[in-house]
Amino acid sequence: ERLSNNFQFVEVDRKDPAKKSMHARTAEYVEIYEPYQKEEVQHQAHRCLECGNPYCEWKCPVHNFIPNWLKLVSEGNLFEAAELSHQTNTLPEVCGRVCPQDRLCEGACTLNDGFGAVTIGSTEKYITDTALAMGWRPDMSKRVWTDKKVAVIGAGPAGLGCADVLVRAGVKPVVFDSYPEIGGLLTFGIPEFKLEKTVLSRRREVFEEMGIEFRLNTEVGKDVSMQSLMDEYDAVFMGMGTYKYMKGGFPGEDLDGVYDALPFLVSSVNRNLGFEKDPADYISVKGKKVVVLGGGDTAMDCNRTSIRQAASNVICAYRRDEENMPGSRREVANAKEEGVEFLFNRQPIAIVGNGKVEGIKMVTTQLGEPDENGRRRPEPIAGSEEIVDADVVLVAFGFQPNPPEWLKDFDVTTNDWDGVVAEEEQTYKFQTANPKIFAGGDMVRGSDLVVTAIWEGRQAAEGILDYLDV
Ligand code: FAD
Ligand code: SF4
Repeated sequence: ERLSNNFQFVEVDRKDPAKKSMHARTAEYVEIYEPYQKEEVQHQAHRCLECGNPYCEWKCPVHNFIPNWLKLVSEGNLFEAAELSHQTNTLPEVCGRVCPQDRLCEGACTLNDGFGAVTIGSTEKYITDTALAMGWRPDMSKRVWTDKKVAVIGAGPAGLGCADVLVRAGVKPVVFDSYPEIGGLLTFGIPEFKLEKTVLSRRREVFEEMGIEFRLNTEVGKDVSMQSLMDEYDAVFMGMGTYKYMKGGFPGEDLDGVYDALPFLVSSVNRNLGFEKDPADYISVKGKKVVVLGGGDTAMDCNRTSIRQAASNVICAYRRDEENMPGSRREVANAKEEGVEFLFNRQPIAIVGNGKVEGIKMVTTQLGEPDENGRRRPEPIAGSEEIVDADVVLVAFGFQPNPPEWLKDFDVTTNDWDGVVAEEEQTYKFQTANPKIFAGGDMVRGSDLVVTAIWEGRQAAEGILDYLDV
């Protein structure tokens, strides 16, 4: 039944989905939010003002038709909402879960003006989760197959975005990934408490039904050669991510008990999913004093995984203040609720210990002039050194692109920080210096977001379709 009140936002407060009990949150690897109920989501969606020129759409990197699908869901037209939502987004149920909405769509909502933004992310998640569970599948009835096929390297959000647009246009995508499941960092990086892995296995089945072929456990450059892809396919898309860990460059980083963030997170996911090859790969922080260095999404995931592994205490040290943290505010708040202690304005200068970690020497910082990116630079305060006790240090300073050596044989160029050069503003979007090879996602822009990788993969597919003239 259509809800008729145009001033719903005054009477109905913003209400996020309920969170699970603290026991479930700190002891189990499950998503922490309960799903919305039908009535609840209809009321929340109906709070949308249907702004004529919606800022939320402009701020959403894939430019979702947000007010339109909010209206459809508020009217109970779930399948139409799902179809519309898939016109712009390859993984709406994933973005609904992991996008930093406070910086994107919801941050731009007019109702932020004192009323609380519409719960756009949770509604986007609800639409696809519920529609898929009820048997809805993307409408492929108008698709006409061409005789073209494209190799996609990487089944992360960029590769999946590209394959989705190609298959809908009748171009056969064959997606290669070295991992045993699709998703890239969505599966082997982001922990289950933000994104349960059945979301990706269900997605793989949907993609396969749409005509996307996956060759998993297959590394390009080792199990199949790039040359064979160049010979057999009409074009190649690369969405291979960024996997070089940034270092702090201070003494003690090679002591026992210091780990890079990603191996720690992946070892936990591998154990939980049954993909662990050797039990010695598992990094346990049970009963240990953990210090996480960094303030982004990866740092928050390390903090919260350590809590679930029953670390004795978890401290997160970040060199700027809370206001200037790069990660999603929602995840910082969740980490605090779960018991993570934050030390803001602290910069590590050495990890100390005799063979193994015993503590971290830190200085207190104050924020100085803005740097070239407009972010205020942290400056150490003289005489403020202190040592924080630690048994384990998890380093989450970010990632840099590490394109494979073999790219050089195919004339693909990289910039001075090793990002593959492929730009949106050119005749064929996201084409590299080799006309047959396109690229997008983290390997082009540096580590960023799921939704920006999806956008670039989708745009590159448009470039490929133009290049193939189909
Ligand atoms: P990836 O997701 O890295 O996928 C690349 C894929 O390519 C991988 O599956 C890899 O196996 C495959 N591959 C590479 N080389 C080869 C080869 N030679 N042959 C075959 N396959 C190959 N973003 C958010 O928006 N929200 C979050 O909450 C968030 N949390 C994050 C938490 C962590 C711990 C990390 C590390 C990142 C997080 N991000 C988050 C960032 C986000 O995950 C990435 O920006 C996004 O996954 C990049 O997508 P991609 O497709 O470019 O690369
Ligand atoms: Fe918001 Fe991300 Fe969905 Fe866009 S894709 S509407 S930014 S949650």
